[in-house]
Amino acid sequence: MSIPVLRRPKQVEKNNNIIIEPEDFMILTLKNGKKLVVSSDSYHGIITSSNIYKCVICNEEFSLAKGDKEKHKKSHKHKQLMILSPHKEDFAENLIRQIETDICYCTICNVVVPSRTLTRHLSAEGHTTELKKAKLRSFTYQPLL
Ligand SMILES: [Zn+2]
Ligand SMILES: [Zn+2]
Repeated sequence: MSIPVLRRPKQVEKNNNIIIEPEDFMILTLKNGKKLVVSSDSYHGIITSSNIYKCVICNEEFSLAKGDKEKHKKSHKHKQLMILSPHKEDFAENLIRQIETDICYCTICNVVVPSRTLTRHLSAEGHTTELKKAKLRSFTYQPLL
């Protein structure tokens, strides 16, 4: 009979510099009163692309340092551009922003979608699943006071 190897959970190093930040979510109330909860990055059009962050609304890239991203969200330019590319009313809860003539951004999935494939994107399973999740989160989400 062999003696089972004792497996110990890996000890978390006390002095490591890795801080796992809980993802920031935000609650959006639509005109029809429906609520959706999406991550703050999705709302702000910030996607992670290999080892950088990219704001698809401003078409700007920045490092993965959390500070840079948060600073960008608060920047005047970003806020202005967000106002200029609002969520399109025709798409309601799908939260689609038109960022260029032929490019849209799906807040629900946090992805850039070419305008010509938008209809296909909206009916694709990936999108409908994400939309369901965003709706479900609104039942459990408690805004931080
Ligand atoms: Zn931006
Ligand atoms: Zn989508």
